Amino acid sequence: MQQPVDDLTDEMMSLFNKDNVFVYNTFQLYRHDRLDYLKKSFDVAKANGYQLGAKLVRGAYMEKERKRAEELNYESPIQPNKPSADEDYNDALTFCLDRLDSLALFIGTHNEDSCMLAARLMDEKNIPHNSPRVSFSQLYGMSDNITFNLAHAGYRVSKYLPYGPVKDVMPYLIRRAQENTSIAGQMGRELGLIRKEMKRRGL
Ligand SMILES: Cc1cc2nc3c(=O)[nH]c(=O)nc-3n(C[C@H](O)[C@H](O)[C@H](O)COP(=O)(O)OP(=O)(O)OC[C@H]3O[C@@H](n4cnc5c(N)ncnc54)[C@H](O)[C@@H]3O)c2cc1C
Repeated sequence: MQQPVDDLTDEMMSLFNKDNVFVYNTFQLYRHDRLDYLKKSFDVAKANGYQLGAKLVRGAYMEKERKRAEELNYESPIQPNKPSADEDYNDALTFCLDRLDSLALFIGTHNEDSCMLAARLMDEKNIPHNSPRVSFSQLYGMSDNITFNLAHAGYRVSKYLPYGPVKDVMPYLIRRAQENTSIAGQMGRELGLIRKEMKRRGL
């Protein structure tokens, strides 16, 4: 389904992103082809006189994608390992931060290194912390340590809140937790931080 989603988003960006960026496409950098695709999307936007909205994530459906590729016998779209996904994610960040005159960037990650890299690059390139062209986001209920520190330092940051009827959302969240092994690691870190804060408050 990715191609129709990309085509539709490109069409919407060409309609609505002429003077400012309202529509963003999501680039999942755990896919080995997405850094190239991000660069191509930028060229297409330039050639057609609109601005690119780039939401960068690593990607949430790794296990599902790999299983499907194996079952249907096609090459997995997923990177061979985590460092390759990290490298492409950070390269994509750098690519976008170098082109903010015709692109807006949404950094969707709980990865501390990627957030630090983006913050450092913004300083190096003299991009104001509150630039309307750059925003950070973490899921509601997760990684407040990153969100709060970014907000405190003046960056634009939001919490991302999936919502809907409880009967749909609970099974969705449980499936994500089961499918997404990365959640296990983040939960561990989150719990450790909460315990540390409780101890600091003498609770
Ligand atoms: C605000 C926000 C919006 C989001 N929107 C979307 C969305 O629209 N679509 C979507 O798919 N996801 C979305 N996500 C989820 C995101 O893609 C990640 O699954 C999640 O954020 C974990 O990655 P990370 O960068 O935060 O942290 P990290 O812990 O650094 O990275 C974990 C991620 O690395 C990748 N990874 C782990 N192991 C491997 C491996 N062996 N090989 C290759 N890659 C590996 C996986 O993508 C895994 O989820 C969103 C996340 C946030 C915070």
